[in-house]
Amino acid sequence: MKWLFAQDLADAPTQWHQKLLALTLRVGVVLGAIVYVPSVLAAWRAGLLGLVALDTIVLGAVMALYLGKQWPIRVRATAFCLIVYVLSVGLLMTAGSISQIYLFGFSILATLLLGLRAGLYASGLSALTLLFLGAAGLAAEGMAHPNIAEPLLGWTVISLNFALVNFLLTLAVGLVISALNHALEREVGARQTLERERAFLRTLIDAIPDLIYTKDLSGRYVIGNQATLTRFKLEVESQLAGKTVFDMLPPELATAINAQDLEVVAGRPILNHEGLSVDAEGKPAWYQTIKVPLRDTQGEITGIVCVGRDITERKNLEALLRQSQKMEAVGRLAGGVAHDFNNMLTVISGYSEQLLESPGLDARTRNAVLSISQASDRAATLTRQLLGFSRQTILQPQVTDLNAVVTQTSSMLRRLIGEDIALKTVMAPDIATVMVDPGQLDQVLLNLAVNARDAMPTGGRLTIETANVQLGDDYVAAHLDCKPGPHVMLAITDSGVGMTPEVLGRIFEPFFTTKTVGAGTGLGLAMVFGIVQQSGGCIHVYSEPAHGTTFKIYFPAVGRKLAPPRGAETPAPVRGTETVLLVEDEEGVRALALASLTRHGYHVMAAVDGHDALQTLQAHDGSIQLIVTDVVMPRMSGPALAQAALTRWPKLKVLFMSGYTDDAVVRHGLLQGEVSFIQKPFTPAGLALKVRQVLDQV
Ligand code: ADP
Ligand code: MG
Repeated sequence: MKWLFAQDLADAPTQWHQKLLALTLRVGVVLGAIVYVPSVLAAWRAGLLGLVALDTIVLGAVMALYLGKQWPIRVRATAFCLIVYVLSVGLLMTAGSISQIYLFGFSILATLLLGLRAGLYASGLSALTLLFLGAAGLAAEGMAHPNIAEPLLGWTVISLNFALVNFLLTLAVGLVISALNHALEREVGARQTLERERAFLRTLIDAIPDLIYTKDLSGRYVIGNQATLTRFKLEVESQLAGKTVFDMLPPELATAINAQDLEVVAGRPILNHEGLSVDAEGKPAWYQTIKVPLRDTQGEITGIVCVGRDITERKNLEALLRQSQKMEAVGRLAGGVAHDFNNMLTVISGYSEQLLESPGLDARTRNAVLSISQASDRAATLTRQLLGFSRQTILQPQVTDLNAVVTQTSSMLRRLIGEDIALKTVMAPDIATVMVDPGQLDQVLLNLAVNARDAMPTGGRLTIETANVQLGDDYVAAHLDCKPGPHVMLAITDSGVGMTPEVLGRIFEPFFTTKTVGAGTGLGLAMVFGIVQQSGGCIHVYSEPAHGTTFKIYFPAVGRKLAPPRGAETPAPVRGTETVLLVEDEEGVRALALASLTRHGYHVMAAVDGHDALQTLQAHDGSIQLIVTDVVMPRMSGPALAQAALTRWPKLKVLFMSGYTDDAVVRHGLLQGEVSFIQKPFTPAGLALKVRQVLDQV
């Protein structure tokens, strides 16, 4: 029942009331003006001067209401109804005939303008007015309404009939309006909800960084969110709507995407497809796409919905990670191989050197042994490079000025690269110091220069550049192996043949070479890579076929003072008479070292492993000055032996030797005592020299 009265003006004027009032007033003014002249004329002729005055007043009042828009709507609506009431009473009293019809008009107008409740009151008021006019004998002559003089029954019947019809009519109009109003409100409400949802969805898809767009069955874009517009460098959606992918992307790409779209239109969604495309700048970019058919309420496919996510960054990181894992695995393999080789090479080169020293060798044998020795030297270079790559070189880092190293090596490099190639050095004046092994840095420069020379067979330019740089978070995010902070950059640029992306992806792999057999070993860059990494730096290459190549190496800046230059080298002593305990599980190496040290005057005792060595030490309590021990041995390792021995005899000195050297094993395996180290393969003379140095350390 409540909704019947929901649109009462008393509750809250709705737009509906406003419009209706304006409309009825306008109709009132127009109709009033049209009827006014004939009505007034007729009334004048009939001598009804009162009616003339009433007509004039009513028309004036309606006009005033029509124009008085500033008055409250309730006042205007109520006044309008009352004017019609007054007019109908006036007509009933003067014009007669069918003037009751004005009372119908009054109650229906009240229903329309003020609501059903007011309409029902108006219909009651009309019935009472009619009864009263009849009873008081005020009704006009000839009106189809009985006077009190009529028989009572007829009077009552007609009055009641009028009241009933008026009531029913009013109620019916009120009902219809309520129903209409209700339906309208529901409709408006639904549309508002829909619009709210649309606004929400639109804001949502525009806020999402993924590309979201829809296409129709013929592949034309319909909707595109902000990210899509940005991707295509468009300002507004209308620039996208109606275009096809062929209008937006290069033909091959568009063809592939169109083929995908056709699949989706055929009802086969595409989920999480990763594909290479281009970004707004035309650079290659990876997108992960989801495409599903868009269906109408009947389930018919009407288009497609696509979501595309730029995953370029993830893809790049994945590639970097894969690459570094591969290098790690290859490095471990290379290190293992080099270790075993070094033991054998120590024996080969050691004994060939001994043989060469022995007098009475005939020339042929001497040449043969010399060849063996030279071959083993070359092999040792290879294993050293392999170890370099697997970051197992024992570096002797010191505070170094890169400019000084470049200056020193440049004359050698100039000779190396030949006259066809111009060498230019560009060095930052206030270069920060770095912590590197200068000898290894020479190797790095040498390898890079040789590669550059090979890349410029007909001459060109080689530039070596140093600079202080600050590596920011952006750079580090894109280059996983770098750490942020101040660095010193060493850049080597050539104007040579450059590299294809395929070659670029593999250059640091050991044994990867594009050179003919004999011309390249494929170990140069592998070693460079290992040394740079082990020095805490990072290396990156920029190259394009026919445009040359730039290698950029970044070493962390340390900002410490340079180490004082070493004094002039005096020939180092190599002999001694101290007692040395030699610990080595490889028989060949042990025998060689024993012979060599004995030859240099030392008193040498040999042990096959750590346990054996500890027993020997025990037996010679205190009379041994130095342990020369392998690092990796069965039962008890070199560092474990050193640990145990140094706890008991703190003055004891230790020299480690290994072909398989992991910094960590040697440096962290010991808690006290200085660590000295000799890298296998070593020559007998090299070992004697090192032993002397260690014994002379204070
Ligand atoms: P190698 O020089 O023995 O081939 P490297 O490890 O030094 O081995 O280099 C590997 C490969 O990288 C080379 O064979 C060559 O294809 C490529 N390369 C290295 N440096 C350059 C350069 N400056 N310009 C062009 N290609 C290069
Ligand atoms: Mg090389």
